[in-house]
Amino acid sequence: MQNVKQNLVVIGNGMAGIRTVEELLKIDPDHYNITVFGSEPYGNYNRIMLSPVLAGEKTVGEIMLNTEDWYEEHGITLHKGVEVTKIDRYRNQVEAADGTIVPYDRLLLATGSNPFILPVPGADLDGVIGFRDIHDVHTMLEVSKTKDSAVVIGGGLLGLEAANGLMKNGMDVTVVHLLDTLMERQLDEVGGQMLQKSLEERGMKFLMQTATKEIYGDGKVEGIRFQDGRDIKADLIVMAVGIRPNIDLAKKTNLHCEKGIVVDDTMQTFDPKIYAVGECVEHRKICYGLVAPLFEQAKICAQHLAKASVFHYKGSMTSTKLKVTGIDLFSAGDFHGNDDTEELVLQDAKAGVYKKIVLKDDKIQGAVFYGDTADGTWLFQLMRDGSDISEIRRSLLMGQNHIGDTGTAGVDMVSHLDDSAEICGCNGVCKGDVIKAISEKGLFTLDDVRAHTKASSSCGTCTGLVEQLLAATLGSDYSASPSEKPLCGCTSFSHDAIRHTITSQGIKTIPEAMKAMDWTTKDGCHSCRPALNYYMICAWPEEYKDDSQSRFINERSHANIQRDGTYSVVPRMWGGLTNPNELRAIADVADKYSIPTVKVTGGQRIDLLGVKKEDLQDVWRDLNNAGMVSGHAYGKSLRTVKTCVGQEWCRFGTQLSMSLGVELEKFTWGTWTPHKFKMAVSGCPRNCAEASIKDFGVVCVDSGYELHVGGNGGIKIRSTDLLTKVQTEEEVFEYCGAFLQLYREQGHYLERTAPWIERVGLKYVKERINDDPKGRKELYDRFVYSQQFMQDDPWAERVEKTDEFTEFKPMKELSPV
Ligand SMILES: Cc1cc2nc3c(=O)[nH]c(=O)nc-3n(C[C@H](O)[C@H](O)[C@H](O)COP(=O)(O)OP(=O)(O)OC[C@H]3O[C@@H](n4cnc5c(N)ncnc54)[C@H](O)[C@@H]3O)c2cc1C
Repeated sequence: MQNVKQNLVVIGNGMAGIRTVEELLKIDPDHYNITVFGSEPYGNYNRIMLSPVLAGEKTVGEIMLNTEDWYEEHGITLHKGVEVTKIDRYRNQVEAADGTIVPYDRLLLATGSNPFILPVPGADLDGVIGFRDIHDVHTMLEVSKTKDSAVVIGGGLLGLEAANGLMKNGMDVTVVHLLDTLMERQLDEVGGQMLQKSLEERGMKFLMQTATKEIYGDGKVEGIRFQDGRDIKADLIVMAVGIRPNIDLAKKTNLHCEKGIVVDDTMQTFDPKIYAVGECVEHRKICYGLVAPLFEQAKICAQHLAKASVFHYKGSMTSTKLKVTGIDLFSAGDFHGNDDTEELVLQDAKAGVYKKIVLKDDKIQGAVFYGDTADGTWLFQLMRDGSDISEIRRSLLMGQNHIGDTGTAGVDMVSHLDDSAEICGCNGVCKGDVIKAISEKGLFTLDDVRAHTKASSSCGTCTGLVEQLLAATLGSDYSASPSEKPLCGCTSFSHDAIRHTITSQGIKTIPEAMKAMDWTTKDGCHSCRPALNYYMICAWPEEYKDDSQSRFINERSHANIQRDGTYSVVPRMWGGLTNPNELRAIADVADKYSIPTVKVTGGQRIDLLGVKKEDLQDVWRDLNNAGMVSGHAYGKSLRTVKTCVGQEWCRFGTQLSMSLGVELEKFTWGTWTPHKFKMAVSGCPRNCAEASIKDFGVVCVDSGYELHVGGNGGIKIRSTDLLTKVQTEEEVFEYCGAFLQLYREQGHYLERTAPWIERVGLKYVKERINDDPKGRKELYDRFVYSQQFMQDDPWAERVEKTDEFTEFKPMKELSPV
């Protein structure tokens, strides 16, 4: 059939360009063949979150918005790391630096901005950078490893976030600012001074009203000199003195540009085939530098690209928040005021709170909040709506909870808001949208809401409001993210906080951990002891000595206790294969110890049921002497690797699934995991080994191996998600080891891979495993490293130690699960 789709080419793989594509796919996914060019070598990422990455609060993987799989899933051709150098408006095609030529029916320019670099002598020295992209962040992090002092030129939002991040990486940072107030575009003098004071208390230094004369150094930055003659040494200079719309390509193409690429209210440039969105755009004489307006532009632009709208973009009102942890700051509109305006002011220097609201004719013109910004969203909404505030004027500074008859200050900030009130400023998501999504789509977690509505997924400052909406809508069904909840009644620390404390403080024993985290009980309980034991094993595979007393009885006994008090014993059968010697040994053991039931399990091995407690040791010794080790059928560990007969025997088999399964089992057995971990290898897509309900399932196909993760049989069946497809067995091992290690390091104790993936998101897992080859290799290496100590500690010896399973000393609370 003839392809009637038109070609859309997008130049700029950033936040505005890809948001436009996302909006377009929602309205009309089949309208265009889409090609995206991005000069950065990544998928689309959340540029706003570069500051938390620099501050060590997030990883690069965590800020990826669209992985490469996303482009593939939507049939989008991505040329990443490729710059478009020419637009041929006569031939309607673009030409890229690597020689690629792509024709277009419609072209979207979303080339963003460039940081402005002051044209002072020395600005081209090595060590002078802007703060715009992942590359800049990597440079800053690298320098901070070996050097001490940095200067940030510019005391605006970006400059302060850069300075904060560098300080958190141990650098001595001086911020140089031309004016006498920090963030003068967002703060008035009082707010600016309060901000400066609290940053100084954290160790940030300032040179105010200071102009840069030159940067000096021999090839590399060594210092900076100012107009007033002062001079300071520096190893790194970050210029954060503003941005300039990136219009070079548009200008070369003779598109009409002023400060930015000029567009009309449909986001169309002067060439009707070319649209533009984002920071590169000038709309009604304004260039925007925050995402909220750019996302509004993206929505309108997508509608016109899909030829599905009469809506127009009329400009945006913006508000700002600073992303420096522990500093709350909000500002919006015209907060300076003039002769026609009045001001409401609340200032409590001791509490570090300052609020100023500027009014004109009983309408809010602007506001600055410092120290207490909880009412920012509500106030911004009143301002955008042009609401008459005469009736609530007296309570305005106290906040919305003091309005009306509730008098319930501090209870919640969202109940008074109308459904049309904007919750997430970056993404333009209203209260009604969030509630509707929660109720209609059955959402339960913050991540669910982020995925369905995008609320709280950009700068994250509205997260608290979204959580309040979840709580208000779900009532008792809502529970905050499990990662925030204390592990058990013995501690106020959550699973994640415990793991972090263990690794960051180098804690290597359970008593030390209990002391460091203020345990309220002397011995812990059946919830925290096994969890602590597991977290220690995972963190310190070489140094930590497994504490058998912190294990459940089944793990201590190396067998599963049965309802009549006897045990079930399951020796390992690699990949479900066995041989006459093993079968003979099992038969001999069954005879010798009068074991009443011998049963083939669902995991392709043989279970000896009804073993008496007093025979356990001897049963294991006999099996062990015949070369059989434990199948860990009781363990929070690798259980089985189920296989089909595969290409070895089956007419349909595409690969050697049996030998691959055996090798995978030999590679992973003995590892301890947060919960049981099962694998399978199917030799063809008929999937006889049921790989699609395993924690890690391999489905062999003619061209390689599909790798599936997060499956679960049992009560709540969950079929796997496709992680990726690889071509060689070697890659299967690398992905398997990396996935297992990621789960080992991040899963909460007693959390299977299925809920873990739902908690962290498949996107996150793909980013860590698929999109980050270096990170994947590191995970794999850590797994292999830890395996030495698991497998080197012979299982046979463990069962020889009688005290490990006959004397149950201090952990009386522990009971079978
Ligand atoms: C550190 C930092 C913190 C920020 N914090 C906030 C915040 O808290 N709140 C907020 O609202 N905003 C914030 N911003 C601003 C926000 O990130 C930007 O407004 C937004 O990213 C702009 O989107 P864009 O798509 O227009 O440009 P970009 O996201 O910059 O994307 C443009 C892309 O186009 C590519 N490109 C350019 N020319 C070409 C070409 N010829 N060929 C191929 N590719 C090309 C560029 O490499 C770039 O990847 C912050 C920005 C930074 C740098």
